[in-house]
This record gives sequence, C-alpha cells and structure tokens, in this order.
Amino acid sequence: MAVFSWFIQVFLSHARRRCLRSTQRHFCMSSELADISDLIYRMHSLSCRLTSISRAKLTSSETLGRDITRICRSTRRRNSPAVMPEYVHGLSLWPPVTSITIATDGMFSRILQDDLVQLKVWVNESPRNLLTVIVAKSTWDYELIAALRALLSTCYIIVWHPDATEDPMARIKAFQSGAGMVTNDLEHLQEGLRRITGIRGTGDLACPWCGLDGLSSLELWQHQPLYHIHEPDMLGSQCPACRRWAAHLTRHINLTHGPDQLADHRTGVFALAVVRRPTDGKFLLVQERHGVGYWLPGGGVDPGESLTAGVIREAWEEAGADIKVTGILTIDSFHNGQWRRIIFLAEPVPVSDAAAEATAAATDGPLAASPAAAEAAAAASDAPGPALRRPSARYRCKTLPDVESAGACWASVGQLEGLPLRSASEPMTWIPWVAGGGRVLPLDPAACPQLGQVFPDFTL
Ligand SMILES: [Zn+2]
Ligand SMILES: [Zn+2]
Repeated sequence: MAVFSWFIQVFLSHARRRCLRSTQRHFCMSSELADISDLIYRMHSLSCRLTSISRAKLTSSETLGRDITRICRSTRRRNSPAVMPEYVHGLSLWPPVTSITIATDGMFSRILQDDLVQLKVWVNESPRNLLTVIVAKSTWDYELIAALRALLSTCYIIVWHPDATEDPMARIKAFQSGAGMVTNDLEHLQEGLRRITGIRGTGDLACPWCGLDGLSSLELWQHQPLYHIHEPDMLGSQCPACRRWAAHLTRHINLTHGPDQLADHRTGVFALAVVRRPTDGKFLLVQERHGVGYWLPGGGVDPGESLTAGVIREAWEEAGADIKVTGILTIDSFHNGQWRRIIFLAEPVPVSDAAAEATAAATDGPLAASPAAAEAAAAASDAPGPALRRPSARYRCKTLPDVESAGACWASVGQLEGLPLRSASEPMTWIPWVAGGGRVLPLDPAACPQLGQVFPDFTL
C-alpha cells in the first residue's frame, strides 16, 4: 500500500511537472513572451550603447545607464515577464514596437501602470515602428534626450520634470534636444500616451516630416503636432493625403484632415492677453509651434464672437489656462483697419481646490518639487502639506502639444531675457509694462472710446 501511495505521489508530481512544462511551452509560444524577449534584447543593446555614451560624454547619465544595465541583467537572469522591474515595461513585435519607461523614481512608475496596459493592447493590435521613452529626472538632462534621439530616431521622448511649466528656456532646450513633450502634469501625460497609442497605422500615407508610413489622413493630423511640433512648417508642398498644393502644410492638414472640417474664417481681428499669476507675478507664455519661440496667449477672433470671448477661447486652446479678463492695455489698427488688435490684461482662474489637491498629491514625491522648491518646503517644514504644493498646482497650463501650440509656461520678467520670442514687441512691451504698474484701461466701452472707433462691428 505504501509502495502504491509512493507510486501515486511520483505519478502526480510528474504529471504536475509535465503540465507546468506544457504551460510554459505554451506561454513561450505566446507573443507576449516573444515581445518580452525582444524587449530584453533591445533594452540590453540600448543600455550598452547608453553606458558607453555615458562614459564618453554623458557624465550626468551614468546612473541611468547603470540602472538600465542592472535591470537588463536581472531580467535576463530570470527571463520571465513576472519579474520585469516595476519601473521598466515594454513590449515588442515585429516590426519593432517598444515602449520603455525610464524613471529614476519608483513613485513615477506606479502612476504609469494603467497607461502601459493601453500600450500593450495597441502593440498587439497593430505593430508600428514606434518607441516611447519617458525620461523622468529632477535635473534637466539635454544630453540624455539628444543621445536617445540619436540612438532611436523614431522614438517619442516625453520629459517629466517638476519645472516643466516654470522654466521657459529649459522647455525650449528640451524640445531642441529632441523631446516631443515636456510635462509635469499627470493628466496631460496620460492623454499624451493615449494619443500616441491611438495612432494605429490604418492607412497608407507617409509623414512628410519623418517618413513614418501607414498613416490614415486623420492619423497624419494626430501624428504631426505630437511628433513635429518644434520642427519648421513645410511651405509650398504637396499634401500626401489629398495631393493638393499647400502654402503651409500644417495649416492645410489642420483645416482639411482633422475630425471636423474647419472653415478658414479670418476676420483680421486679434485679441491677446497679458496673463499675470497673482501668487508670484509670473506671466503666461505660449510656446508656439514650429520652434519660433514664445508669445502672448491669444489669436484671431471668430465672426460673431466678442473680443473677450475670443481671447478666453484662445488662451484655453493655446495655453490650457482658464483666464478672467480684467482690463485693456492697448487697441491698435494697422493697414487702414485690415488688421485690428486688442491686448487685454487678465489673470488665471485657479483650478478648484479639490482638483489642486489631487494634482499636488499625484505629483508629490522626490520628483514633484525642484531642488529650490524642496529647499523652500523644507525650510517651512512646520506646515509640510501646503508648503509642498507648487504654485502651478492651482494654475495649470498646457503641456500636451496639439495643433494649437507646443504648450505653455509661466515666466518672470527676468526669465524673458534671452528667451526666443515669436515677435519681441508684444511680450517685451506689455509684460514689463504690467510688471511696472503701467496704466490699464477699464473694461468699459464708455471709458474707452477707442473701442467703438476701432471695433464698431465687435462687442467687448
Ligand atoms: Zn512624422
Ligand atoms: Zn490635404
């Protein structure tokens, strides 16, 4: 009986092992493990090249290079998707599709988990030659961004930095180095990843900027501002979607190939705003498309729209900020009234306290505060909660590139110096004017007769 029992035990154990092996074999055959193996290979080659570059040039990236090498080693040793380190995820099929999150902080990776599930779904449905890298560091590392861009020319680089909307020159340098998005806003990051993964390659068009093919016309419309917001426009070229000649290709794509057919209704009336943040007196700047620099938020007023409604809409579209118009700075008319312009003074409307709390909580942690902000918070440590909340948490602005702009940033008068500007006269005249307490006209047609003279056909 004992022998029989022993025999049964051995048989069951053997059967279990067979079953396990068969499961493993089945799993090995699944595309998921093939993806992971391919990722490991790619991660490894990336890390080797990154490490060698680190030694040669990128002293500030050495830690990151070592991190990746260590991750690759541990992943290779165990060779199982279950032991993928929490802060590095990726999947790949052929043609190679990979997403890698590089973060030097554990908190950051936790908040990305849901999006990485989306990446996986997308990868398995429609492989494209795409690679997303998220660089999350508390120092600006332009050399790392440039090295990643040089290594992986088709990848999409998102830079996560606590000063993404507080340091306008750093934003520009990050885009110049090859970043496609610079953010410190979790919602914008998630939406960015959603848009990147939403481009599934369902057509046969090639992007005239980077050559990525297989795009539908709508996907070209989605892809262009995400991937090429900082690059110059194409002037006088043929549209790959409709073969029509376009003086400005991005404008043509935006008007013709987006989800809605847009009318090109230019009124020649423009409304701009100098938006001052009440907490620290910084000003809102729009990072314009095509790498032309910053400018005041604002744009063309639509037919039938009031001047204030026009500037509020434009500030939202271009700078992602809700504004309240508080006064008039100047009214101008050019070319016998063919171009008319009003520049308003405005202030941002704070996001609700509940939303600000959520943003502060989501971005809390080592990467949430810049060294200076962290120091200030530590100095005021008797009230750690409110002190850790950065001023921008109550006054969000745009960090997700789209057809309107590359994003926005808050700048002090001092930070304007040396900043690339689309045109210097407006910001360099009116921001110092407001900062210096210059005269502001009231929002009252009776007190401002010029309004009726220049804009008889528009309401305030
Ligand atoms: Zn492209
Ligand atoms: Zn077209």
